Amino acid sequence: MNINKNYMNLKDSYLFSSIAKRVGEFAGRNPGKEIIRLGIGDVTRPLVPAVIQAMSRAVDEMGRAETFRGYGDEQGYSFLRKAICGFYAAKGIELQEDEVFVSDGAKSDTGNIGDIFSSVNTVLIPDPVYPVYVDTNIMAGREIIYMKGNEDNGFLPLPEPRVKADIIYLCSPNNPTGAVYTKEQLGLWVDYAIENDAVILFDSAYDSFVNDKNLPVSIYQISRARECVIEFASFSKTAGFTGTRCGYTVVPNGLIRNDSSLNKLWLRRQTTKFNGVPYIVQRGAEAVFSPEGLAQIQENINYYLENAEIISGTLARRGIWFTGGKNSPYVWFRCPGNMSSWEFFDFLLEKANVVGTPGAGFGVGGEGFFRLSSFGNREDVVSAMERFKSII
Ligand code: PLP
Repeated sequence: MNINKNYMNLKDSYLFSSIAKRVGEFAGRNPGKEIIRLGIGDVTRPLVPAVIQAMSRAVDEMGRAETFRGYGDEQGYSFLRKAICGFYAAKGIELQEDEVFVSDGAKSDTGNIGDIFSSVNTVLIPDPVYPVYVDTNIMAGREIIYMKGNEDNGFLPLPEPRVKADIIYLCSPNNPTGAVYTKEQLGLWVDYAIENDAVILFDSAYDSFVNDKNLPVSIYQISRARECVIEFASFSKTAGFTGTRCGYTVVPNGLIRNDSSLNKLWLRRQTTKFNGVPYIVQRGAEAVFSPEGLAQIQENINYYLENAEIISGTLARRGIWFTGGKNSPYVWFRCPGNMSSWEFFDFLLEKANVVGTPGAGFGVGGEGFFRLSSFGNREDVVSAMERFKSII
């Protein structure tokens, strides 16, 4: 018996436990101090009425023999995949229903997609980055090449022709940096992937935060992307489904490697290992795309975007370099006074009693930077920024 020794190569993830420990110690030393948390990436607005009504109806259906449902359809119920295709059609993208796979979220799918790729592939991953891409490839024993995000490239690394990779992870709008690729920049990545016979894994978990009409809301808005990209989407941040769990992945039928359809491989993988998403949740997700659902989730998204504006406006007035804050729920900035990420974390906690996320937790390229999230409530964001102004 041998374990998967690749797991020995994983770095322990201390980020959120270290944050919790430091905050706990501070609270112990300073009882009664009100601590504001702008570190978390979880949403705080509740599910919208259209979703709740649809899920309630589905619960009732499950309680009646005539409408009860057992095991669901393989790739997700047709009603939801149709609604997703309709959502893409509104962005000018034609999808076939069988190109859409309903899932329990983008974390699972971005993590599991590696099952259909050989472990000898070389993987290109930005740094700083959402840690799931790195850890799942370490688990699979793949060689990872990091591409540096920094102030010079606005944390939007572009392809370098001399760097050869088979699989490329891109996330836009980005977590943690909030930076958003333009259509031209994504076009360079699509060209690179086609030239190198590579596959791009595009995480669009934050697509709904893009309100600048010139920015892409799906990589399939770039011509020929269907030949080289798998896109992952999520209801988590779009519609507050972080606890409800639903997402979807698009694997175009035209995506062929080694004479095999990646769509067929993913279908085989999912039908073998994944149980699907509950009927009740899929009805809730379908309701997100109804006219009322879309209007209601937009109100929540606007609320978070206004929070992001308040945070980024404060940084701008203090002359602090940042990315995000527009078309994204995250604001990513250089730590004032050349502090390291953790030095600034302690400084902000001690002096302003505000908790954020040290950029170094997202990779070595994040050292010296800091992330604030706009998913908190308005009063907290406003008072956190008042305190920030008083100490910076
Ligand atoms: N992808 C990115 C870039 C994220 O930041 C997150 C969550 O924070 C996820 C995926 C996870 O999404 P889900 O809740 O759909 O699994």
